[in-house]
Amino acid sequence: MPAFRTLDDVQVNGRRVLLRVDLNVPMENGRVSDATRIQRVAPAIKDIADKGGKVILLSHFGRPKGRDAKHSLKPVAAAVSEILRRPVAFAEDCVGPVAEDAVARMKPGDILCLENTRFHPGEEANDPDFVALLARLGDLWVNDAFSAAHRAHASTEGLGHVLPAYAGRTMQAELEALTRALEQPERPVAAIVGGAKISTKLDLLGNLVSKVDTLIIGGGMANTFLAALGKPVGRSLCEQEKVTAASEVVARARTRECEIILPIDAVVAQKFEARAPSRVVAVDDVGNDDMILDIGPRSVEHVVSVMARSKTLVWNGPFGAFELEPFDTGTIETAEAAAELTQAGKLVSVAGGGDTVAALNAAGVADRFTYVSTAGGAFLEWMEGKPLPGVEILRAS
Ligand code: AMP
Repeated sequence: MPAFRTLDDVQVNGRRVLLRVDLNVPMENGRVSDATRIQRVAPAIKDIADKGGKVILLSHFGRPKGRDAKHSLKPVAAAVSEILRRPVAFAEDCVGPVAEDAVARMKPGDILCLENTRFHPGEEANDPDFVALLARLGDLWVNDAFSAAHRAHASTEGLGHVLPAYAGRTMQAELEALTRALEQPERPVAAIVGGAKISTKLDLLGNLVSKVDTLIIGGGMANTFLAALGKPVGRSLCEQEKVTAASEVVARARTRECEIILPIDAVVAQKFEARAPSRVVAVDDVGNDDMILDIGPRSVEHVVSVMARSKTLVWNGPFGAFELEPFDTGTIETAEAAAELTQAGKLVSVAGGGDTVAALNAAGVADRFTYVSTAGGAFLEWMEGKPLPGVEILRAS
């Protein structure tokens, strides 16, 4: 465990705990349509409440420009209450008299959700005056929002400068998983990077080549690497202007003794749609009208053999256009193999990033990985090797 202060290091009984959570959940028709994020923070809320702490929930919700009803956390607070099966009070502001009165009424074990922090410009500006107003409401600050930790906002970072700061249970689990995956991993370490475009993942690739033993590249972005090697890519998604950048990643990997694995065969089709007629070809034989939409069976075998000789796997991005059957096959088969190795105790598998979670859920393997992070931007910035302000502030120095 890295040197982070956690809920194990603090007495919360009778104290006002400002708990930063990520309640930025998807809504449909005024109701929460995916409660995963609420379920993930439920343990920290219960933990503090059961120990007699007064739980004061802080979160942003969407990107409001000032106060507006559409971005109110009120319906989300109701969903939190349903999931916890406990009353959750709501205050129509996160600072000032409304919030202060609501906090003053709390008894040990009570839960209160404050209104969207982004209704105040001081939140994103990390304005010290706004931080001071928030800090008046609590005796300590617990950050359980890893997914917002790449932002230095008042409630995600600023509070840590003025109140005693601790990692919540989800944050703690995330930090432990990430540490096992890249900071102090069991070697050999393999990383899978897939997804659409290399342009969004250059920083990530640059960091990984210096940290992992094997870098497996798949998805649309592999096409740019294949083009860099002079392979035909037909009408595939390929960023010609990034061919040089791809060659640089390969050259850098060589100096770092990081092996790069690219597809050796591909599933190609002439239409980008589900069940489009397709065939398997070697990467040397992609035709002018072909689009590479998935890795082929020999590539799957190769990836599985690399995973089998690795002890740790970090995964971001699908191997193909997984939303369209049957171009999800490469992602499903490799994910299934990673899940089996994990369950057999042979592999630590950590995955994350928006589409990756969707792909692993579609493959039905997410709960058999060691850890799947629901954080999007924060997970990617961590993979890029960037310090996350909301994590750095929790270090026990
Ligand atoms: P990202 O958000 O960068 O992880 O990219 C995920 C997206 O990449 C998904 O929507 C996939 O459908 C897409 N993708 C993966 N492989 C391919 C491919 N070979 N051609 C086109 N799109 C792809």
